[in-house]
Amino acid sequence: MEGKKFVVAIDGPAGAGKGTVARLVAQRLGYLYVDTGAMYRAVTWKALRVGADLTDENQLATIAANLSLNFHEGKEGYRVLVDGQDVSEKIRDEEISQKSHYAASSLLVRQVLWAKQRQLRVKHHLVMEGRDIGSIVFPDAQVKIYLDASLKERARRRYLQLKEKGLPADLEAIKKEIALRDERDLHRSIAPLVRLPEAVYLDTTNLTIGEEVEIIVNVCRQRGAPDPSK
Ligand code: C5P
Repeated sequence: MEGKKFVVAIDGPAGAGKGTVARLVAQRLGYLYVDTGAMYRAVTWKALRVGADLTDENQLATIAANLSLNFHEGKEGYRVLVDGQDVSEKIRDEEISQKSHYAASSLLVRQVLWAKQRQLRVKHHLVMEGRDIGSIVFPDAQVKIYLDASLKERARRRYLQLKEKGLPADLEAIKKEIALRDERDLHRSIAPLVRLPEAVYLDTTNLTIGEEVEIIVNVCRQRGAPDPSK
């Protein structure tokens, strides 16, 4: 009998580069990449769009339950579709970044999204990134990674990203914003970000993306990650 599908759980604070690294690891292993932050963002985006009250978790949970969420790798990269509409850029808006904590701190919303996340393992080997993947979504994940970087470095990366896109950026303001998100992620009562003792801790402050990917892929191979093409 076939065992459970392989899961690489990548958790860590905002701006540690989880998305880029997780996506590349998934490409290398031939697994499905899942950005769970995009799910909390999608719920928030939809809630704002329909004028829901973000402080009312029943409204948010109903939105989450009725949301049709699809992810796929397209020519233009990783795309997030909500009810068939491509919202990949819209959910990265600053407003969504600042307001997603309402959905993230609701147990009702999380229960709906946890079920959707767990369902993906029925058919796919996964590289899933977020805050609670190793702790709650898949405590039995074969590989757990905690991806970290100093606050200064995470702010610097975010600043460069914005500059590259020709958007206004203020390093001090970004640092404050990330520190606030850390505070919320680490101290919320439901599914806070935790550094699990069994997770491989990777401080990426002085690593290149290529080095990070290599380290994680090696850990996966050591743990017997199956090759789906065979
Ligand atoms: O990682 P990202 O910034 O896209 O996450 C968006 C929001 O969702 C943040 O508020 C984050 O705390 C929350 N989140 C979460 N659990 C996850 C992934 C993200 O609470 N597994």
